[in-house]
Amino acid sequence: MNNQELELNIGWLYPRLMSTYGDRGNVIVIEKRTQWRGYKVNIIPLDQSATADDIRGVDIIVGGGAQDRQQEIVMRDLQGAKADALRDKIENSTPGVFTCGSPQLLGHYYEPGVGQRIQGLGILDLVSIHPGENTCRCIGNLVIEVTASRLAQDLKEMLGGATPYLVGFENHGGRTKLGKTEALGRVVYGLGNNGEDSTEGAFYQNAIATYSHGPLLPKNPFVADWLIQTALRLKYDQPISLTSLDDTLAMQGREAMLQRLNVSITPAVVRA
Ligand code: GLN
Repeated sequence: MNNQELELNIGWLYPRLMSTYGDRGNVIVIEKRTQWRGYKVNIIPLDQSATADDIRGVDIIVGGGAQDRQQEIVMRDLQGAKADALRDKIENSTPGVFTCGSPQLLGHYYEPGVGQRIQGLGILDLVSIHPGENTCRCIGNLVIEVTASRLAQDLKEMLGGATPYLVGFENHGGRTKLGKTEALGRVVYGLGNNGEDSTEGAFYQNAIATYSHGPLLPKNPFVADWLIQTALRLKYDQPISLTSLDDTLAMQGREAMLQRLNVSITPAVVRA
């Protein structure tokens, strides 16, 4: 099969309600990097008008951040067959990237600073609690080392043996505590899940959950490639090797930010 015959459907959860801090950039990066390799790509908005079958038909899922009020509206809609479809997709290893408000909804619950507890889908074993309006939000640049074992291994390979660090920006009031779900990484700079235990995000099956906006993928394009490659391999059940792209500018952006934050790491090299 040549590339033009392969196609990816990117499911974008509630684009109008969940895309704070430029999280739509994650969708654009996946779309462009898929197209630049000559694959077909469709963006499927998974909003209130979407059906459970629409959710079942996607190959990659992207969920952005949201304000507490929007999270409540989303969870009123994401019930029954739609909730089951999303749960099945994640359990069956559909790759996805979920930022900030989205992982809070994939966990057991999110307790806002004001108002009622929002019951989540319980796919990720984690809970998130906003300690109240008088507590500082966790805001600022964020650097993590990916420690989730399988993902760390894959990314390291894609980076020519370098340790995978992710650069981003966090802005959240909620503090997340992980249960059995593995952390995505270890905080190198910033606060991460709760500012206490040095964990950041979560990794489950092929779902990447993170507090990192930025949005995440433009600054860490190798993660987008991991999502694309994983999705194509799962969908077409054949080995897929993505062609290299020129990521010089993105990598320079990362380096500039790391220098500014005075974080010294092994320089990341994109596949030769
Ligand atoms: N409302 C959540 C919080 O403040 C999520 C915010 C976000 O997605 N940026 O923790």
